[in-house]
Parts: sequence; C-alpha cells; structure tokens
Amino acid sequence: MENIDKLNARFAGKSPEELLAFFLNEYRGRIALASSLGLEDQVLTDMILKTDSGAKIFTIDTGRLFPETYSLIDRTNLKYNTRLDVYFPRHEPVEAYVKQNGINGFYESVDKRKECCKVRKIEPLLRALSSLDVWICGLRQEQSVTRTGVQAVEWDEGNQLIKVNPLVQWSEQDVWDYIKANQVPYNKLHTKGFPSIGCQPCTRAVQADEDIRAGRWWWENPEHKECGLHRR
Ligand code: SF4
Repeated sequence: MENIDKLNARFAGKSPEELLAFFLNEYRGRIALASSLGLEDQVLTDMILKTDSGAKIFTIDTGRLFPETYSLIDRTNLKYNTRLDVYFPRHEPVEAYVKQNGINGFYESVDKRKECCKVRKIEPLLRALSSLDVWICGLRQEQSVTRTGVQAVEWDEGNQLIKVNPLVQWSEQDVWDYIKANQVPYNKLHTKGFPSIGCQPCTRAVQADEDIRAGRWWWENPEHKECGLHRR
C-alpha cells in the first residue's frame, strides 16, 4: 500500500516517540494501544501517556491471567493516574467452550488452543478495535521467528486498520534501558524467567539459552505460536 510505504520511509530512523506523536495527533479519538501488559507495551504506555494523557490504552482480561498481571494493571493505573480500559470475553462462548472441551482443553490440540484464544482474546480484541482506525502494538522484529518481517507501519488487511509498531527495531536491552530510566512499572514475573507473559496456564519460565517466546504455548511448534492477534 503506497501510503504505508511512504509513512515507513518518512519515519525511518526516527524515534518511537516521533512516530507516536504523529499518529496520536493525526488519528486522535480513533487510535489506541492494544496492550498485552508486556515490557514493550509498558514502554509504549509510558511514551503515549507522556504525549497525550487522554489517549486510549486497552488490555484484555481473558480470565486466565497471572495474579502478578492484575497487580501490574493496578500499579500502572496508580503511576499514571489513569484507568486502562479492560475488555472481557463474552461469557456465553467461554461457557460453551469449557462445557465442550473442559476448563483446560487448550492443551489437547492446536485447534482447541486456538479456539480458546478466539473466544477469550480475539473476540474482545475485535470489539475493542471496531471503533478504531489505528492500533498501536509493541511488536519487535527480534521477538520470534514469526515476527522478523514486522514493519513500523503496516496495513492490517484482516482488521482493515493501520497497525503501528514503534519499537520494531528495538532490542530487548533497549526495552529494559527505557524501563529502568523512566521507572516504568513492569510485571514482576519478568525477573523470574518469564520474558513473555500471557495466560497463566499457557506460559512457563524459560532458560537463559531459550528463545524469548519459548515459554508461550511451549507444547506447540514455533510456527504455531501466534494467538491470532498478529497474523504473520
Ligand atoms: S493463551 Fe491459553 S488460556 Fe489464554 S486464551 Fe489462549 S489458549 Fe486460552
């Protein structure tokens, strides 16, 4: 898409803050950060609220999060004097899924796992995105084999939205440096071997020599390791 290529060229070499300032201003009221509450999204929360304290930031409570993640939502709200928007799944499909597959049915097959992600994550995400023209994400190219081709600005064909990934070129060290320098709240599990944190039953700690997303759906092959939020 021509406009997307132009935007990528325009912001090549520019800082994440410059990219965010442009989009937050240009798409005011129609842009939001879809926060997974991971380190990258906490960095973006800090950058965004310093640029526009009224910007929309939302997260999804699948009902299966770690206690430490709920604590992080609370600490983030306190630090920035805000209230993140929390979207929940609709109860009927979750109840039907559990009735058919069991409370932990996602361990039994990739299809059952994807179905759980669909009802607990994708449905509320799509509902949150439905009023937007732009969503901001914390994807980085080095995060996994499925994310090496991510661009700073992308056209999300599936959702018919512009997707902005301000930290696309950042390393894990860049993220930690920003967190420390700006005293950004982060999930305490990150210091206990959890580089990437999702739902509690689907996330384990990783060893130092493992890929940073190896602890997500660890029983599956790497090429399956997306929940459908980011189709690549
Ligand atoms: S990560 Fe696991 S518990 Fe969470 S929605 Fe996906 S399958 Fe369900």
